[in-house]
Order: sequence, then C-alpha cells, then structure tokens
Amino acid sequence: MLRFIGGALKGKVLDGGDGLGKSRGYKIVLTSDRTLMSEYGGGIFLGFSACVPKGVVPDFVYFNFFCPSVRVGPRGEVEAAPCGLRRVEAALLEYGFGEDEVIVAHPEYLDWVVGPDTKVLGVNETDPLGIGPATTTFTELLGGEAYMAVKFREVVFNRTVRKYGPKIIVGGPGAWQLEPEDVRYELGLDCVVVGEAEEIIGPLCEKAVRGEPLPSVVHGTVVPPEKVPNIRHPTICGLVEISRGCGRGCDFCEPTLAKLRSFPIEKILKDVEVNIRSGRQPILHAEDVLRYGAKSLVPEKEKVLKLFKAVRSVPGVEHIGMSHFALSSVAAAPDLIEELTPIIGADEKRWASGQTGVETGSPRMIRMHMRGKVKPFKPEEWPDVVVRAFEILRENNWVPCATIIIGLPGETEKDIELTIDLVERLRPFKSLIVPLFFVAMGILRRKGHRSMRLEDLNARRAELLLKAWRHNLLWAPVLIREYLRNTARSKFTALGTALVLSYGVGVALRAIEKCEREYGWDLLAMREDVIEGRTSITPRSLKPLKWAMKLVAAVKG
Ligand code: SF4
Repeated sequence: MLRFIGGALKGKVLDGGDGLGKSRGYKIVLTSDRTLMSEYGGGIFLGFSACVPKGVVPDFVYFNFFCPSVRVGPRGEVEAAPCGLRRVEAALLEYGFGEDEVIVAHPEYLDWVVGPDTKVLGVNETDPLGIGPATTTFTELLGGEAYMAVKFREVVFNRTVRKYGPKIIVGGPGAWQLEPEDVRYELGLDCVVVGEAEEIIGPLCEKAVRGEPLPSVVHGTVVPPEKVPNIRHPTICGLVEISRGCGRGCDFCEPTLAKLRSFPIEKILKDVEVNIRSGRQPILHAEDVLRYGAKSLVPEKEKVLKLFKAVRSVPGVEHIGMSHFALSSVAAAPDLIEELTPIIGADEKRWASGQTGVETGSPRMIRMHMRGKVKPFKPEEWPDVVVRAFEILRENNWVPCATIIIGLPGETEKDIELTIDLVERLRPFKSLIVPLFFVAMGILRRKGHRSMRLEDLNARRAELLLKAWRHNLLWAPVLIREYLRNTARSKFTALGTALVLSYGVGVALRAIEKCEREYGWDLLAMREDVIEGRTSITPRSLKPLKWAMKLVAAVKG
C-alpha cells in the first residue's frame, strides 16, 4: 500500500515494516535529503530535476514522475543509497561499529530510526543550500527555492531529530556550502566534513557517541584507493566509483586540484557485484571515465579496456553506463570510443550517455580558466575539438549531456558570441547542452569572485542561454522517447513523464520564440512583463491549472 505525506509520494515500505525494528533508535543514522533518495525511474540524469524550484510543477507530479522514492525496508532502511553514503556506512562498519548500530535510513522515516540512543545523524548532500550551478540557474530564472534545499532543511529540522538531539554531521560534495559559521548556526549543525570522509568519519562518530565536542568544520584527507572501503549495500542507479580527483585544474571546479587516483579493478568489481545482486546494472563513475588508470591527461586505452571488459564479464552485467567523460579524451582517443562501444552494450537502439563539459567556445576563456581541460590540445583548437568529439560520439551511438558556463569572470561579448557559434555548430548532433550560470567554486571561490546573478543576464548571455535550450528542446522528442524506452520505468510512469515533458517542450519553444521575436533576446524584460501580467507565456489550455494551483496555495495560506 503506498502512503502519502504532504501530497508527496512516500517511499514504499517492503515486507510490511512497522518501524519497531529499533524503538530506542540506532546509534548512528545516515541519510540524504529526499531528492537524492531516488533512482529517477532508472534515468539518473533526471536527477537534474532536483535543481528545479519547488512549485514549478505540483509536488505530486514531481515526486511521482521525476523523483519517485527508493523503496524502504522494514526497519526504515533504504534499498539503495547515494554512493558517498554507502562509503561512509562501510567506513563506519570497518572502524568497528556494528550492523545493529548503523542504519542508512529514508529521510521520511527518521521517526522510525531516531530515538534516545541515537548519537549521530550523518547527512550526505550535493547542494544543501540550492546554490550549486544547475540549481542557481533554475532558481535565478524561475524564482523560488530548489527542492534540494527545502528537503535538506526538512531533514535537519525533523521533529524527532530535534527532540533527541543527536550530533548532526553533514558531508558530501555540497558540504563546502555549509562552512560559514552563520550557516551552520542557523541550521543547527554540529560538524561539517568537507572532502573525503572515509578516514575521519569513524573517529568523529566515536567522539560523538562518547558525548565529546566535535570540531565544527573538518577537511577530509585524500584517501589512498586501497583504503577506500567497499560498499556493503546497493547504490542509487548502481553507481560505482572507479577513480577520484581530476588534475585538469579548472579554476571554477571543486575536484580540480585532487590528483587522479584510480581504484584497483578487483575493488571495482566487488562494488559492481553488490549492485548486480540487487538487480542494478553498473554506472561507472569518475570525473573522466576515459582516463581510468592514466598517469597523464591522455587516456591509456589498454587500462580502460581492461577495466570495462572485466566489469562486463561479471555475471549479470548486460550493459555499462558512465557518469562523466572529457571531450578532449574522446578526441584524443577515437579508437578507444569505438572499442568501448560494444563492451558497454551501446547501439542504435540503446545509446550510451554521460555528462561532459563544453563550458565555452572561446579560446580566451579556456586560457584564462581551464587550460588543462583541453589537453593534449591547444586552447585555440577547442571549438574544433568539441565538434570532432561530438562527431566521434555520434558515430558510436553515444549521446553527450554537455554543460556550458555563462558569466565566467572576465567574459566579454566576443567570448559569448564564440560560444553561441559553437552551440550552433553542435545543432546536428543528438545531445543535450545545459547552460549553467557561473557559480564561484573551487579556486575562484577562494579568490573571492562572485557568482553570476540574474541581473548579470544581458541580452547576449540570454541569447546563449536560450539557444542552448532551443537545441535541447528540438532534440527532446527523440531523446525523451528513446531515453524512457531504455530506462526501467513502469509504462504508467514512462507515459506520464513523456506527456509532461512533451507538453513542456512545446510551451518552452514558444516562449523562446517570443523572447527572440518580441524582445530581441532581452529575457529580463520579458520576465518582468510576465510577472507584471503585461504578457503571458502560459498556453490557454494550462490557465485553469495555473489558477487552481494559485487557489490551493492561497487556501494553504
Ligand atoms: S575537467 Fe571537469 S572535473 Fe576536471 S577540473 Fe575541469 S571541470 Fe573539474
């Protein structure tokens, strides 16, 4: 029986759980916010939708079609969890805590697992304040607050958590956002772990259990690959880490400085097996999977092939996904892509995908911010390298989901123009190009640069933003159809998602056309007219729904 809370679909409980597994609570409860406790119907890249502000679509639609919950076991434990949380769980068990002391719980079942014996609530977050690049872009444009931020607050201000007062420790890729003292104070956090946690989380939790004070911010050590513990239970979408760090040195990126460290194949295979046993096909995760085992910035083909062949030979593996790859690696090793394609199980019917960074079409911006990204090529070759990489990917049925950054420090009209030209050259390639507002992270954050805001969106930048979105919307009908066919969704969810997305595509394309034709790409002027009611981008057929949503909001007060 599915149960509903606050209009949002709650995680389905397996085997008739009653929440009485541990009435005094677990000593250490690990969790993430609700948007991260989803397998997005098998389509991990729909996780981008967690960046959409609350209220853009009704909660019911969002939590059913975009972000359905992972299943919940009888004790309130999740069936699959984010990879980082699984590593922390494994590190705690290896440190000496018992299976009956540590639980990775669903955030909506904290009242089942937190009690007087609970000493630690460990939370893993990617964007706890909703200020990461994708979230900032959506919230600046659409207004409101990202679901991730809303749901993170629900976890740390959970009534049962506040009642029993365990130490709240937050880590994960977004932990840097919580370093400022006022932020930690406002959220009532006891400790923030920035960086890798495996070597420090055990001693930290031991201190908390003993009732000793915790340091307010801890910077994790770089963990040698052989000391990273194997996961004990499945990860979201079968994500398996194959390496950490990058070393290309882009100044706007957090993993930039950490040197690339690849995990031994035997370790990777064990994590794959854990996921396969739960029915999850592996998605290999690294900042650039094509540089697995590489000693320089150029792929070492034999090492990558050896890894992928070993993963494919695990009984039960039918295909292999990838999280990220670099376009410079693709262009530097076209034969690697060709040889990998049959191993990962990609063809015309089931294309491969992964995130990648185009970032800019301007060699000047490359020289200024990301020289290492384009190596072994030169900055002035970058636009051609990108196009060549897209060609190679198309020939092999790989569909890139690429980001571009708007508003990098020092960006001029000419730089934007060059990126617009590049986006237009990429038009024939089946792909997604996600435009992101520049957010001061990495070295640029430490140098005090400020993130791009809505008021910085001049007409030229808006043209780039909307042309990138037009690229996506024009490819959307094909992508939606093929993507949903290839992901493990129920027919009902697939049809629902396809209908919502297809309708949205038509509406968005008309809005872009209006901005170009009537406003000369001045998106801010159009946005103001929409807010003031002087113009509308809502189709007549949607108006009754919009009024109904306003009415519900007014009644809710
Ligand atoms: S190549 Fe990607 S992961 Fe590496 S530093 Fe640059 S942006 Fe970061």
